[in-house]
Amino acid sequence: MIDNAVVRARDLIARATITQREETAKMMSAAKADAGSKASVAAVLKLAHLALRRAEEVIFEVLDLVPPPQPIACKAECPWCCHIRLTATPPEVLLVLEFIQDNFTPAEKTALARKVANIDGYTRGLDGEDRAKLRLPCPLLKDGSCSVHAVRPLSCRAVVSVDVGACKRAFDSRMEEPVPQHELQILAANGIGYGILAGMADAGFPVEDAEMNAALALGMADPEIGQRWLRGEPAFTPAALTKRKQNRHF
Ligand code: SF4
Repeated sequence: MIDNAVVRARDLIARATITQREETAKMMSAAKADAGSKASVAAVLKLAHLALRRAEEVIFEVLDLVPPPQPIACKAECPWCCHIRLTATPPEVLLVLEFIQDNFTPAEKTALARKVANIDGYTRGLDGEDRAKLRLPCPLLKDGSCSVHAVRPLSCRAVVSVDVGACKRAFDSRMEEPVPQHELQILAANGIGYGILAGMADAGFPVEDAEMNAALALGMADPEIGQRWLRGEPAFTPAALTKRKQNRHF
C-alpha cells in the first residue's frame, strides 16, 4: 500500500507542475509578443528565477512530508555528481549566462569560455551513459564547488544522494555503481522542468531541453542568443537533445 504522505507529496508535485506550466505559457506568450526586446529577455530570466524558487519550495515541502531514509549528504565542495551530462531548458541556460555575465571577471569569462569549448568538443551529442564514461567535469565546477550555485539548473537540484561514499564509487566506476537518491526530490525538480517545457510548447516554442555544456558554448559565443531565441530562431537547437537516449536529469 502506498503511504499517505507519498500520495500527498505526489499531489503537491502534480499541482506545482501544472502551475508552472500555466505560468510559463502566460509569461512566454507575453515575451513572444515582445520578441527581441531586452524586456522580453528579462521576463524569461524572471520566469527562470520563479521556477527555481518554486522547485526549492516544493522540494522543501516534499522532504518534510517524506523525509529521506538517511540525511541528505550533498553539500558545497562535493563535486562527484558534476561529471555527468547536465540538461536544462533555455530559460535556465539564459539565467546561468546572465549570472556569469554579472559575476565573473573578464579573465574568468575568458577562461570559462575556453573550458566550455574544450569540453564541448568531447561531449556534444553524447547520451548520458557515454558522457558519464568520460568523467569530464562540468565547466562550471571551480575548485570543487559550483561557481553558479545560486542559479544552478533544476537537474542539479533533482539529484541528491544520501551516501557520499556511493557517489565516490559511482564516479570511480564511471556511473556503473548506483547512487541511493530520494526519488520524490527528483520528481519534484523534474516536474518543474516539465512545467517549463510544456508551458513553452503551449506558447508556441519548440520544446528544446538542451545539453548544458553545448548551450553554454552557444551562449558565450553569442550575447544576443536570448533575443534570437525569442524571435523564433533555432538558437539552442544545436544543443538540443535530439540524439539517442534522452532523460531529463543527468
Ligand atoms: S551547474 Fe554546478 S551543480 Fe550543476 S553540474 Fe555544473 S558545477 Fe555541478
